Amino acid sequence: MVPVNAFRDNYIWTLRNKSHAAVVDPGEAAPVRDYLARERLQLAAILATHHHPDHVGGIAALLEEHAVPVYGPKNEPIATLTRAVSEGDTVSVPELGVDFSVLDIPGHTRAHIAYYGAGSLFCGDTLFACGCGRLFEGTAEQMFASLGKLAALPDDTKVYCGHEYTLANIGFAKAVEPGNAALELREARDRRLRAEGKPTLPSRLGEEKATNPFLRCREPAVIESANKYLGARLADPVRVFAAIRDWKNRF
Ligand SMILES: [Zn+2]
Repeated sequence: MVPVNAFRDNYIWTLRNKSHAAVVDPGEAAPVRDYLARERLQLAAILATHHHPDHVGGIAALLEEHAVPVYGPKNEPIATLTRAVSEGDTVSVPELGVDFSVLDIPGHTRAHIAYYGAGSLFCGDTLFACGCGRLFEGTAEQMFASLGKLAALPDDTKVYCGHEYTLANIGFAKAVEPGNAALELREARDRRLRAEGKPTLPSRLGEEKATNPFLRCREPAVIESANKYLGARLADPVRVFAAIRDWKNRF
């Protein structure tokens, strides 16, 4: 899996073998085109997780040069899709010998999907390393359920999300859960990676469960911080989630 950088902090994840590549969320065409040319790869498929322009903006231009299938969520306005998919569907890329299960994970957008296969999860702007996406079109209940669905995958699943937000997310996570030793370790490692100009991704799902406050809404320390933020006493994990999501927006 190779990250192709786009815009300021987007990653276009590229699965490849010696001859072919598939790309996830090409917000821009130029960096993908350059990568394919440099590596002498033929594009085999495009996978989109949701309709935001920084994830789908490059698809039309790529299609002008490559007649490939474009997978993406049913019920989102993406004009360039050729195969609309939703939970229960399988996306096969025979050129690469991989199959992905599609998961519905609404919340950031109304019909956001994830692709899970070969031990890897492409989750767009839903689960971030040590964070989660904003609620633009969905409710806290939906996002909480979507994150729970992802968290149920095996701990060694590699998490490929759409943006390099990790260090800022860790800063917020430490405010929510100041006593979490795993967060300190994660911060030290990820700071080193960024200093070396490397992505902090993929992360492992097990590590997300140990450090990502949005997956830890049943932990007493997270509940306590949410209550402090709201000046309330609540324990319902959806309300805890909603509180820390709101707090993060203002952090
Ligand atoms: Zn988005």
